[in-house]
Parts: sequence; structure tokens; C-alpha cells
Amino acid sequence: MKENIVILTGAGISAESGIKTFRDSNGLWENHAIEDVATPEGFARNPALVYRFYNARRAQLHEENVVPNLGHKSLAQLEQHDGFNVAIITQNVDNLHERAGSKKVLHMHGELLSALCRYSNQRTYYDADFDESTECSCCQRSGGLRPDIVWFGEIPMYMDEIQTLIEQANHFVAIGTSGQVYPAAGFVNFAKQLGITTTEINLEPSDNNYLFDHTYVGPASEAVPRFVSDLITNKNN
Ligand code: NAD
Repeated sequence: MKENIVILTGAGISAESGIKTFRDSNGLWENHAIEDVATPEGFARNPALVYRFYNARRAQLHEENVVPNLGHKSLAQLEQHDGFNVAIITQNVDNLHERAGSKKVLHMHGELLSALCRYSNQRTYYDADFDESTECSCCQRSGGLRPDIVWFGEIPMYMDEIQTLIEQANHFVAIGTSGQVYPAAGFVNFAKQLGITTTEINLEPSDNNYLFDHTYVGPASEAVPRFVSDLITNKNN
């Protein structure tokens, strides 16, 4: 029988791909305070700064060194294995899971490669700079497009789907996430209540590590392939 594996990923899985995490930088995101670049209030205060910030993050995805690492790649390989149904719930706004080949990826905190029109609520794939002067393709008006990122204080996406995925899971795995940003940090509690096996993979055990049955410590590029290999070996035995 296929095992349903639900995998929550955070900034740590992309750290070795050249994209900085929050916590590595004393709570700053690329030298900016979170309240300035990741809240609706920050956007209202200084939209030009916020557009510039996300334009730079989006452009970074094209840098030569920003490529999927073995952590992303081994999750994509796991999805190919016919013994498992794999769903990735990512807090990351980069596109490295997709570039590694993963097909089932839910970006609960939004995506850099998407723009949200505040007039029509429509989302458009966007791989270029945009700002207040950019005309929206859905309503041909300017001033409506904002980065399609779930900022602090906003409601994450796909919450109903995520709940169903965890309810149907045999195994919940958290990779490279500090366990400090809710509601994602609470998914492990939900999984535990349901009696699902839980595994944490992180450079160092997170604050809620006590909720996990198994822990793999190490950089994602090494620890995730090790976990995937163990999972497949156990399945075959
Ligand atoms: P976080 O910055 O709070 O925590 C990062 C975690 O990754 C820490 O637990 C750290 O120990 C671990 N880590 C660092 N390097 C690692 C490595 N090489 N291998 C394995 N683990 C490693 O990240 P978070 O919990 O994802 O929450 C922060 C929020 O920041 C998210 O909502 C996300 O939207 C946003 N963010 C996203 C990106 C991205 O898209 N890549 C980058 C920075 C921030």
C-alpha cells in the first residue's frame, strides 16, 4: 500500500541554494526588518521599498548559484517512487522545489513568481519586475498589483487542503523550519494528535523538536537524502 507523506519545508531547505533564511540573519530578511517588508502595514507605509525588495528576491532566482540542492532533488525523487504519495507544503516563496522536479507543491505563504491584483483578486504568473505603475493584465489598470506573498498578519493559503492532507497522512516531516511561524509551526501538533509518525530534519533541533518521533540533524543537502534513503529501505524490507 502507498504511504502518504506530507512534507513541510521552510527556508532552511533553500539555504544551501544561496537563499538566506530569516533566523540566520537575526530576524532580518536580506537586511530588512520583517515589519517593513513582510506586513501589510509596511507595504502601506512604503510601497516602493516593498516592490523593490520582492523584485530583488524574484531576480535572485535567476542567479547562477541559485539552483535546487540535493535536499530538493531527493524529495522530487521520492515523489517518483511508486511506494509513496508525496505532498510538499512549503513556506518558501522561491521556486526550487518545482525546479527540482516536484509536482505536488503547495506554497502556503505565496510565491515570488506570482502577482496578485487587488482589484480583481486574480493571480498572474510574473517573472519580471513590477510596481505601482505596472498595468495589470486582468483589468488593464495600474496600481493594483502586489507581490503574491502572504505577509505576517494575513491568512496562509490552502489551509483546508493542508488539513485534509495531514488527516490522510501516514508520516509528517518538517524540514528546515524554525517552528516559530504559525500556523505552520502547529502542523506537527495536529499530526501528533492524529497519531501520525513525525520526523524533523534540521541543521539543529528546533524548539518543538520534542514533538517529533525521529530527528535527522544536518544540512538539508545531506540529511534529506539520508532520510529519503532510509524511508525507501524500510519500505522495501
Ligand atoms: P526560518 O528562517 O525561521 O528558520 C530557518 C530554519 O532552517 C532554522 O530552523 C535553521 O536551523 C534551519 N536551517 C538553516 N540552514 C539549514 C540547512 N542548511 N539545512 C537544514 N536546515 C537549515 O525559516 P521558516 O521557518 O521557513 O520561517 C520563515 C518565513 O520566512 C517563511 O514563512 C518564509 O515565507 C520566509 N522566507 C522564505 C525564504 C525562501 O523562500 N527561501 C527565505 C527566507 C524567508
